Amino acid sequence: MKTTVSNWSNYPVKDTTLTHWRGESIPADRKNWIARGLGRCYGDAALSDQILSTVKHNHILEFNPESGVICCQSGVSLHNLLEVFVPKGWFLPVTPGTKFITVGGALASDIHGKNHHIAGCFGDHVSSCTLLLADGKRIRCSPTENSEVFNATRGGMGLTGMIDTVTFQLKKIESSYIKQRQIKAQNLNEVLALFDKYKSYTYSMAWIDCLKGGKNFGRSIMMMGEHATLDELTSKQQQTPLISKVGHDINMPINLPGFVLNSLSVKAFNWLYFHKNVKKVIENTVHYDPFFYPLDSILHWNRMYGKKGFVQYQFVLPISNSKEGLVKIMDRIRQKGWGSFLSVLKLFGKQESLISFPMEGYTLALDFPLKKGLFNFLDELDELVLDLGGRIYLTKDARMKADTFMNSYPGSREFLQILKQINPDLTVQSDLAKRLSILPS
Ligand SMILES: Cc1cc2nc3c(=O)[nH]c(=O)nc-3n(C[C@H](O)[C@H](O)[C@H](O)COP(=O)(O)OP(=O)(O)OC[C@H]3O[C@@H](n4cnc5c(N)ncnc54)[C@H](O)[C@@H]3O)c2cc1C
Repeated sequence: MKTTVSNWSNYPVKDTTLTHWRGESIPADRKNWIARGLGRCYGDAALSDQILSTVKHNHILEFNPESGVICCQSGVSLHNLLEVFVPKGWFLPVTPGTKFITVGGALASDIHGKNHHIAGCFGDHVSSCTLLLADGKRIRCSPTENSEVFNATRGGMGLTGMIDTVTFQLKKIESSYIKQRQIKAQNLNEVLALFDKYKSYTYSMAWIDCLKGGKNFGRSIMMMGEHATLDELTSKQQQTPLISKVGHDINMPINLPGFVLNSLSVKAFNWLYFHKNVKKVIENTVHYDPFFYPLDSILHWNRMYGKKGFVQYQFVLPISNSKEGLVKIMDRIRQKGWGSFLSVLKLFGKQESLISFPMEGYTLALDFPLKKGLFNFLDELDELVLDLGGRIYLTKDARMKADTFMNSYPGSREFLQILKQINPDLTVQSDLAKRLSILPS
């Protein structure tokens, strides 16, 4: 079907042919195709001349209730997995800030969650996957079988072929609640000290105000959490300890006009958000849904940025340069006055993989509404990130230059070599791959 598609940030928009893929073989003469899950990457990673959508390839194939190992088709969403498995006492080993993504998308982006410093990426919990290569062959790959292809598939943004099925480990839970602790930090120094102090918590992240200067530069709300055990629940919560859904969703029905967002409205929002917690420390037990997915309850919140869309800028810096780098980059953003509503700061643990985004250090994610001069400004930030030894997250990117990618991902050249072997005719192709010269156009 000929149609127009964009991913989560509504930029760029692509005229394309979209076909549903349900597990059938893909002929080797089919050119310029890329897999697409729920389109929750932000930029052009799931865009190409031909898009094969996996959302109807969505069956759970096997589950071992003793070990928690599951095998499912790649189009199953994390949302569906939670609905089925939370009531049985199992949770996702790693989850991003939205549950509306597919298992294939989770592996192709090698997603990280609030527990990266403890649990690594999604790919660390995958024991094997089946993959349809560009030449039409279906292979099984794992850390020990066709391991080169497996390593290039996790974080490889769909460029090794179509992920068909994925086998991975779920995590045992006693309840669907999280024992949460929120602490207000008055500035960047304070929040970094909190990350350090509380690094044994399984889950942590901070909402950070990137527009405030002076002694409150980098003021934040740090959030930490652990899965609550049964005896940590209130008597009301104990009545349904493994419930998978709370509350109602609301919808953003239309794109908001661009003028609604300006530096004044962002500053006002950040002020309100920071002051919503009257106390410096809050401790409570909340359902996992608002803890992990606070924005999912506002369906289509991406429309808040208007028709033109926005870009998300997520970078990571090595731990040794993180503090100095965050000060430099946040200061540039503050001076420009273009910061986003809520920016997210996380601490990554050690990560050794070919092409996945994380490295040990701090990562910051910010939204920027599309406007004149934005890409030049982000190019300047890229230079800072590169000088500091950091890199930009491919699944959030829509505008990075090819050199930036090649020079910041140490595994980029080896990744290209593997793709040359398994995708020599550029059959599998995406707009991101062309833009970053991962595959020539
Ligand atoms: C609100 C929000 C919060 C987020 N928070 C985080 C976060 O905390 N951490 C994080 O890591 N990410 C985060 N993300 C990004 C998101 O997790 C990833 O982009 C994820 O890959 C999206 O999955 P999807 O199913 O929508 O895939 P798509 O967006 O459709 O595709 C993403 C990539 O995966 C490839 N792909 C998808 N399915 C397959 C398949 N079957 N075979 C081969 N390749 C495939 C596509 O080709 C593309 O390259 C967030 C996104 C949003 C919108």
